Amino acid sequence: MRELADEFTDIRDAVRALCAEFPPEYHRRIDEERAYPEEFVDALTRNGWMAALIPEKYGGSGLGLAEAAVIMEEINRAGGNSGACHGQMYNMNTLVRHGSEEQRQFYLPKIAAGELRLQSMGVTEPTTGTDTTKIKTTAVRKGDRYVINGQKVWISRVQHSDLMILLARTTPLDQVKKKSEGLSIFLVDIKAAMQAGMQVTPIRNMVNHETNELFFDNLEIPAENLIGTEGQGFKYILTGLNAERTLIAAECIGDGKWFTDKITDYVREREVFGRPIGQNQGVQFPIAQAHIEIEAAALMTRKACRLFDAGEPCGAEANMAKYLAAKASWEAAEACLQFHGGFGFAAEYDVERKFRETRLYQVAPISTNLILSYVAEHVLGMPRSF
Ligand SMILES: Cc1cc2nc3c(=O)[nH]c(=O)nc-3n(C[C@H](O)[C@H](O)[C@H](O)COP(=O)(O)OP(=O)(O)OC[C@H]3O[C@@H](n4cnc5c(N)ncnc54)[C@H](O)[C@@H]3O)c2cc1C
Repeated sequence: MRELADEFTDIRDAVRALCAEFPPEYHRRIDEERAYPEEFVDALTRNGWMAALIPEKYGGSGLGLAEAAVIMEEINRAGGNSGACHGQMYNMNTLVRHGSEEQRQFYLPKIAAGELRLQSMGVTEPTTGTDTTKIKTTAVRKGDRYVINGQKVWISRVQHSDLMILLARTTPLDQVKKKSEGLSIFLVDIKAAMQAGMQVTPIRNMVNHETNELFFDNLEIPAENLIGTEGQGFKYILTGLNAERTLIAAECIGDGKWFTDKITDYVREREVFGRPIGQNQGVQFPIAQAHIEIEAAALMTRKACRLFDAGEPCGAEANMAKYLAAKASWEAAEACLQFHGGFGFAAEYDVERKFRETRLYQVAPISTNLILSYVAEHVLGMPRSF
């Protein structure tokens, strides 16, 4: 597929070269074994890609979300799954933008050197779902500690990360003026927490995505692990969520390109009724349609990245990019599976694995309906529905 000219060719080429060392067989085996792609994530770390968003003065490359998006896109385009490591990218901005200088100096060089991983973000709860401001996990100040109690669900990469950014309520909902107030974010040392009141229960799921249920029973963490000002955490976590939505849009674009490349090659070769199946317009059109939508989603994703990197509001663009890209990759996945016929279901073609992986992004990290609701209310000014 012809690339749109972009200013990140060097990054694309370098990530592509690294990904080429991890062929489809590698990702297939990891999926079959439900393992974590340690060697792949280590290689990304060693080559500095996991420290892309860390400013140079703390040992990182000082790149922006635009470059991070290219890295994520290329991983997925090469047949991998950025879901194993994208947390470090979107969590980084939360720490860089809202952490104290002491926190930055303490954590960022270690993360840049690969000594620590910041891959987890704990927001979702089983009883409140997408209604984030209603979360029930509490953090109560007790001297120089916060005591955490509550429950989280679907918290990813906990077993392969050292640090987690955790959202908890520090002021009860009935004591705040706005429901988005009274929430705070904390850096949690995962291994220490597992010895002191945080229980981690893995959730087996459709994708090979390491994700867990967490229970907090009087977990005490140092008060200095609070990020920013107490009570302002919802605002800070939105930085991470906008970065997350934009990066996942980029991953979906990578998936979409993988699907369209794969199926385009296949339909050119596969002959049925004495001619390539790709000669039929019924086969061509869904693939062409997916390609068009992927290209359009890429433009919106770039816009979201530019705004984010300029420190401008980008909620609408991040949501719209995620909506367009997740829809486009899903349509590409459908076409890819459909026109592979029976072979699409065979694991050795990798189509069924990528199909499962890209399907997730209709639901997580934000469901399609909730994006439509955001746009209806915040962009178009229609009445609040909830
Ligand atoms: C594999 C995986 C990994 C994840 N990793 C993380 C993680 O690392 N950290 C984390 O915090 N969370 C994580 N999540 C959670 C994810 O962000 C949520 O699953 C997602 O936001 C949807 O929330 P929910 O599952 O509670 O669905 P619910 O809020 O229960 O919603 C269910 C469905 O109902 C519909 N719906 C709900 N409300 C409305 C409405 N008002 N209008 C219209 N439709 C509505 C939506 O279509 C939605 O899909 C992960 C989830 C998965 C599956």
